[in-house]
Amino acid sequence: MALIVIKCPKGGGDVATGMAADWPAWNRLPPVWVGEPFRCPTCGEIHTWTKNDAWLNDFQLWTRP
Ligand SMILES: [Zn+2]
Repeated sequence: MALIVIKCPKGGGDVATGMAADWPAWNRLPPVWVGEPFRCPTCGEIHTWTKNDAWLNDFQLWTRP
């Protein structure tokens, strides 16, 4: 599993969406797929996002909360 990351639209840099996916599942999703809105840890606002905005964090050593 890898974390799904987007760029904060408020200029806060890269933020994890709180969702994770593996590559096969990710690759099956269409670009218009809408992820779960989440509260941005950087700017504090709720961001809605699509797959088009996002990428998978390559870092594999992800631990469950
Ligand atoms: Zn943000």
